[in-house]
Amino acid sequence: MHDLTHYLSFINLRDIIDIAIVAILIYFILNLIRNTRAEQVFKGIIILLAFMLISQFFQLYTINWIFSKLITGGLLALIIVFQPELRRGLEFLGRTSSIKNNFGSDQEKIPAVVIEICNAVGSLSRQKIGALIIIERKVGLTEIIETGTKINGNVSSGLLINIFIPNTPLHDGAVIIKGPVVLAAACFLPLSDSKAISKELGTRHRAGIGISERSDCLSIMVSEETGQISTASDGVISRYLDLETLEQLLLEIYRPDINDGSSILNKLKKWSEGNEK
Ligand code: ATP
Ligand code: MG
Repeated sequence: MHDLTHYLSFINLRDIIDIAIVAILIYFILNLIRNTRAEQVFKGIIILLAFMLISQFFQLYTINWIFSKLITGGLLALIIVFQPELRRGLEFLGRTSSIKNNFGSDQEKIPAVVIEICNAVGSLSRQKIGALIIIERKVGLTEIIETGTKINGNVSSGLLINIFIPNTPLHDGAVIIKGPVVLAAACFLPLSDSKAISKELGTRHRAGIGISERSDCLSIMVSEETGQISTASDGVISRYLDLETLEQLLLEIYRPDINDGSSILNKLKKWSEGNEK
């Protein structure tokens, strides 16, 4: 029997770095999937792996064979089931820190566009007209836009209000805004299947949260029942917003160069997370 120091003498700095990186990666993955549907699946995989190791240890070859086949087949199934999450993860990795805000050479239009959006949201809210407005950021929303009707018009409060007037062809669904342009209306968004969402909220709010889980967009929802304004980003909803906060929020996401681009967003998120619990 060697003592521990004998084994320790084999460990060099490279091993320590290696293990540290793996530990950090596992930590991030666990953090990433916490409270998502991936969490259960992850537990399932761990149980499968445990069964496989146990059967290997006791030399139960048939069981071992079945579990090893399940795991290889399961990997393929996982890629298919988690395709949206995987894509989002890869997009996140590929995201550069450049200040791309979709305004290109029209940076001077930002304040006017923000005012138009806020005026529209304010008016819709006062009239209790339901609305769902998605502000595209770095992650493109082409597939979503294809589910709706292309508009390609300049952002104006008149256009936005008009789109959401009940019983008109384009009022049902979401509007997608990219920089100074309304790209499309009547778009169908993926619904969030989060169990943390308040029961008071219906499909409009679930749709706004759903798209914010799958991209870095900002969703703005106006309730037709109460006129209340909410936003969602990164799968977290912030409710009961006033127009000033919305204006600050929009200015902030459009001008990440002026501040860190997330302070109000983070404050709202912390506040709403505290409230949901
Ligand atoms: P509200 O407070 O305005 O009633 P809600 O969250 O209770 O909102 P619903 O009453 O179910 O939601 O709102 C339905 C409207 O939400 C639909 O008419 C449609 O315009 C929009 N909507 C619902 N699901 C989607 C979706 N998947 N994608 C885009 N828009 C959707
Ligand atoms: Mg409703």
